Amino acid sequence: MANIQELKQTFVARFGESEQDIHVFHAPGRVNLIGEHTDYNGGYVFPAALTFGTTLLIRKRDDKGLGLASTNFPTTNVLSVEKVVYDKADDWMNYPKGIVNEILQQGVVFSSGYDLLYHGEIPNGSGLSSSASIEVVTAFALLTLENQPIDTVKIALMAQKSENEFNGVQCGIMDQFAVANGKKDHAILLMCDTLEYDLVPFESGSYKLVIGNTNKRRGLVDSAYNERRSQCEQAVKELQAAHPELTLLGQLSLEQFNASKHLIKDEVVLKRAQHVVEEIDRVLKSMEALKANDLAQFGQLMNGSHDSLRDLYEVTGAELDAMVDAARKVPGVLGARMTGAGFGGCTVSLVHEDSVEQFKEQVGKEYTEKTGLVADFYVCSIGNGVEQLA
Ligand code: ADP
Ligand code: MG
Repeated sequence: MANIQELKQTFVARFGESEQDIHVFHAPGRVNLIGEHTDYNGGYVFPAALTFGTTLLIRKRDDKGLGLASTNFPTTNVLSVEKVVYDKADDWMNYPKGIVNEILQQGVVFSSGYDLLYHGEIPNGSGLSSSASIEVVTAFALLTLENQPIDTVKIALMAQKSENEFNGVQCGIMDQFAVANGKKDHAILLMCDTLEYDLVPFESGSYKLVIGNTNKRRGLVDSAYNERRSQCEQAVKELQAAHPELTLLGQLSLEQFNASKHLIKDEVVLKRAQHVVEEIDRVLKSMEALKANDLAQFGQLMNGSHDSLRDLYEVTGAELDAMVDAARKVPGVLGARMTGAGFGGCTVSLVHEDSVEQFKEQVGKEYTEKTGLVADFYVCSIGNGVEQLA
């Protein structure tokens, strides 16, 4: 957790002294435990909020200015809360600006301007959702200080809309939803299509969630993502011969899919669809495993998820595969998989607490030998969604 006293000093050094109070908010990063590439197919995802994330210090100004600073990135200029426009030169500041824009679009007239200082503990661009974290903490803080009603589902939707429209990044709702609605020691079973969700206790006892960062940038992700999406749409079209009402693959059970999959002509399209339907089935099975307190079974399902993403959906890549292979060799590991969109980013493993040190050493070493890259590891606990700290 960030040192708030130090951050307050940084804040005052940056923005000066004032009569107004400095308020402190926090939004986590998130990790998806199982259910990958299911979101846009009307299926389930199962993310959890992390204990580390983005801390925001915020204070009202005497004018309508918008002062933005980050301990992670340089700042350019002071903006205004009355009018915001996207400007590439403003770099990261376009994320908070996008949120101000959403709030303005809702008809809110800001009572004052604000100074904001962010301190992020999430590695950027690694698939742990630092962008959703900065968006959600900004929306929550500004709406709270403007005495607006707080609805964390609406905040998630607002943050997604600003990332999609203001920043031009096509992301689904999972990240913002998990960051806004997470709960300590719970994961979120979320149906991305309807936003129905359930907070499921995730008590891993003597097992720890260990995130491994491949430190490989997710270069291919945009084009491959669009290709996978259109392959899923293609599968739906062909399956409509047997299921005229079908609009998304997630509407079919595994049994229904297997009975009609001969309708899919292209071998690659078939593999993609097979992954999606089996992955949704794995998420449901993982709920049963958790209810039965069977973490070993949960780990097996994590393994199945990765293998399917590697062989059927083909979104893992050499780095994620090398890390997962190394992870599974460590005694005390129940399961290991990639998390996020793929081609780089992070893995998540369920590791016995007595094996964590060995895990970091052995996986780190083998990963570097195979890829030439140096991995980072984060031993995680599941934390709360966005909240006010002070
Ligand atoms: P991810 O969400 O997987 O971490 P993205 O590329 O979607 O990766 O978002 C990362 C971007 O979000 C950063 O490049 C930066 O623009 C912005 N960002 C995230 N955290 C912070 C922070 N603490 N301060 C300033 N900008 C941040
Ligand atoms: Mg992001």
